[in-house]
Amino acid sequence: MTALALARSWRPKTFSELVGQDHVVKALTHALDQGRLHHAWLFTGTRGVGKTTIARIMAKALNCTGADGSGKMTSEPCGKCPACMEIDAGRFVDYIEMDAASNRGVDDIAALLEKAAYAPSNARYKVYMIDEVHMLTNHAFNAMLKTLEEPPEHVKFILATTDPQKIPVTILSRCLQFNLKQMPVPLIVEHLEKVLAAEKVAYEVNALRVLAKAAQGSMRDALSLTDQAIAYAAGKVTEESIRNMLGTLDDAYLIRILDCLIAKDGASLLAVANEMGERSMSFSLALQDLSSLLQKIAAAQVVPESVLEDWPEASEIRRLATQLTKEEAQLFYQITITSRPDLSLAPDEQTGFAMTLLRMLAFRPGSSGGSGGASSSAISPTSRWCATPSSSSKNSSAHSSSCSNTNGNKANYCSISYR
Ligand SMILES: [Zn+2]
Repeated sequence: MTALALARSWRPKTFSELVGQDHVVKALTHALDQGRLHHAWLFTGTRGVGKTTIARIMAKALNCTGADGSGKMTSEPCGKCPACMEIDAGRFVDYIEMDAASNRGVDDIAALLEKAAYAPSNARYKVYMIDEVHMLTNHAFNAMLKTLEEPPEHVKFILATTDPQKIPVTILSRCLQFNLKQMPVPLIVEHLEKVLAAEKVAYEVNALRVLAKAAQGSMRDALSLTDQAIAYAAGKVTEESIRNMLGTLDDAYLIRILDCLIAKDGASLLAVANEMGERSMSFSLALQDLSSLLQKIAAAQVVPESVLEDWPEASEIRRLATQLTKEEAQLFYQITITSRPDLSLAPDEQTGFAMTLLRMLAFRPGSSGGSGGASSSAISPTSRWCATPSSSSKNSSAHSSSCSNTNGNKANYCSISYR
């Protein structure tokens, strides 16, 4: 293991190493190769998707002289010339990174623009990278306008922001804008596999899937979490160790919740919530995971082939897709997503989570509804839903009867751990 954090040691140094963002890379490499360069670029996108990384590669591409010092501007910086090496090491005098969150005033920008007027000391271009540019004050933006419109030949601006809505249109219209996408889970998993293989760390692919999901589209977060996971797991990065580390739950808990709802078993439903509380799981993440599971179930009901074989929970999704009605899948999904913001209003997260589960039970189509209350519908031995002749009625009444019999298989299944 290297001492450097993975997110730093695996920061891409060239466009070809960059993962995702193909649309941006294509446009930038074309511009560089053809020498048709704009003077100000704006990169937008959430944290950890590569804005600073692309800015550094751009700075190298603009200033690379080739390994022998004779090269011209290129979309493939050599990484060996003084300019490339100094930018990688963060000590190139003509590449200036400024964080607008801490230098947001008009004086900061005025000082920067004054220096921009002078020719670069030992480079083709002075490249200014202003991160979180939306934090600048209005005065600071105004001070920038003129320079941004007609910058000196030797100056390039790279602006980056997580919140483009807050940037004045006068600034936006003077920049070439690129929207960087969040990294999809499969792409993060693929990259983590490569990183861990190179670092000689054993792993389970499912563990990486859980990590990638927790990173929420940010490659940097994914790598930081992987660092943490390697330290935590001490050896092999397993799904169980990752779930313990993140406090996320196994899909088995979620599947148990849905089974209890199908069986109308309120007692077991609350028991699952208690068990999750004892294991200090994040209830907000649980609702998020439950909503994505319900989305997969709803999709499977309409498009069965949307369930991919390599999903660990594929067979359970297929089973639940036949046992829940389409209306139930929709309703449960709606309840899980609308209840998530309410968790912070609840006396505590577990209470909020338990109420969400009871709400799903109470408002199930064909249950005795809101007026009957959750507990009455939970223990009701029969219900209209069970009696409704539908394609799933056979399954559902079977569940209902086995659950009303407390010794039935279904009830046991609901209340025991399912691993
Ligand atoms: Zn170079």
